[in-house]
Amino acid sequence: MDLTYTAEQEEFRAGLRSWLGDVLPKLPPRPDPRDWPGRRAYDAGWQRMLYDAGYAGLHWPVDAGGRGATPVQHLIFLEETEKAGAPYVGANFVGLLHAGPTIAAEGTDEQRRRWLPPVLRGDEVWCQGFSEPGAGSDLASLRTRAVRDGDAYVVTGSKIWTSHAEVADWCELLVRTDPQAPKHRGISWLAMPMDAPGVTVRPLRTLAGSTEFAEMFLDEVRVPVANRVGAENDGWRVTMVTLSFERGTAFVGEVVACRRVLGEVARAAKANGSWDDPALRRRLGRLAAEFSVLWRLTQWNVSEAERSLRAGGTGVPGTGGSVFKLRYSHARQELYDTAADVLGPLAQDAGHPWTAERLSSLSYTIAAGTSQIQKNIVAERILGLPKG
Ligand SMILES: Cc1cc2nc3c(=O)[nH]c(=O)nc-3n(C[C@H](O)[C@H](O)[C@H](O)COP(=O)(O)OP(=O)(O)OC[C@H]3O[C@@H](n4cnc5c(N)ncnc54)[C@H](O)[C@@H]3O)c2cc1C
Repeated sequence: MDLTYTAEQEEFRAGLRSWLGDVLPKLPPRPDPRDWPGRRAYDAGWQRMLYDAGYAGLHWPVDAGGRGATPVQHLIFLEETEKAGAPYVGANFVGLLHAGPTIAAEGTDEQRRRWLPPVLRGDEVWCQGFSEPGAGSDLASLRTRAVRDGDAYVVTGSKIWTSHAEVADWCELLVRTDPQAPKHRGISWLAMPMDAPGVTVRPLRTLAGSTEFAEMFLDEVRVPVANRVGAENDGWRVTMVTLSFERGTAFVGEVVACRRVLGEVARAAKANGSWDDPALRRRLGRLAAEFSVLWRLTQWNVSEAERSLRAGGTGVPGTGGSVFKLRYSHARQELYDTAADVLGPLAQDAGHPWTAERLSSLSYTIAAGTSQIQKNIVAERILGLPKG
């Protein structure tokens, strides 16, 4: 494993830095995080700028509309955009970071042509309809039914915690196509248009005041059979690809942001005198070490994916993503707890960005699979311990 960057990679970094230096000062201010329609428009605008400059879908295959760059170049992109304080992927999270990569890996040529370019241009936003009231950690227990009727599936059921549903055009939807089969075998992965008759979205307000996610009710929604990615009843395997992208690579840009915030917290501590407390300095030091290790782990995961691609493999991230996701989500919570201690009474101010981040960081150990589930995966699939 070689974690140093080549001259060519450094040249790519320098070009990107110079482009960011030109465009970022001209960007309008970001809308309030609670204004999702405003956020969607802003995030789409930023995605379009990336697309026009040739920085969209860097590591996606060329025939999927991407630039065919290496995973390491993508990592440099994430590192530099975060360091420069560029807009976060936001409403484009699902499309760019796990639905799109799943279609690139598992879709037919026609499906890739239909769905991937609008994601890269920021024209279409996706959401993820996996979880249901009775199927979260035990996702394979899902009950939303899809019954075949000619060239369409008729879908009935409900989903919950569907992030970005309020503003999405498409949903990566898991449905049960064979109720008689063992639970992991009767599932299919569909692309559902969110404006189809029978789709009702009811936004849920989070602790931080955002309507980031929603309940979704599906009442005899007709989804063309042609919108199925992968074979009928083979959706569990496709889902594992989606979750590998979600846990393996989707959060890595945020580690850079956490390192930036950690520096800001240390500077605030020096300015208000809390730096004099040796216990606080120890916490900051431990977090700095932790985020460095997480960044190294990220580089290691990406370098493994690149090696797999060079060897003719899929480049789909492996279970190393669960180790990253497990530790990252706790470190993020500890970072914002420490920030609140440095802020003191100011941490009660709901408008302070660190307060909002602290509230949303509580969800990180649940979203994309809880910490307990990641521990089960690490125990069984990496350490080879017996199933509990
Ligand atoms: C911010 C946020 C965004 C989300 N966005 C989406 C989205 O866009 N689309 C989507 O489909 N879902 C989304 N989710 C849902 C998320 O994936 C689920 O909440 C998560 O998988 C847990 O499922 P659950 O809530 O049903 O909890 P449960 O499965 O009911 O779990 C409850 C508790 O029991 C523990 N537990 C359960 N089974 C085991 C076990 N076998 N071993 C040990 N402990 C266990 C869990 O770890 C947890 O602590 C989101 C969640 C959050 C918080």
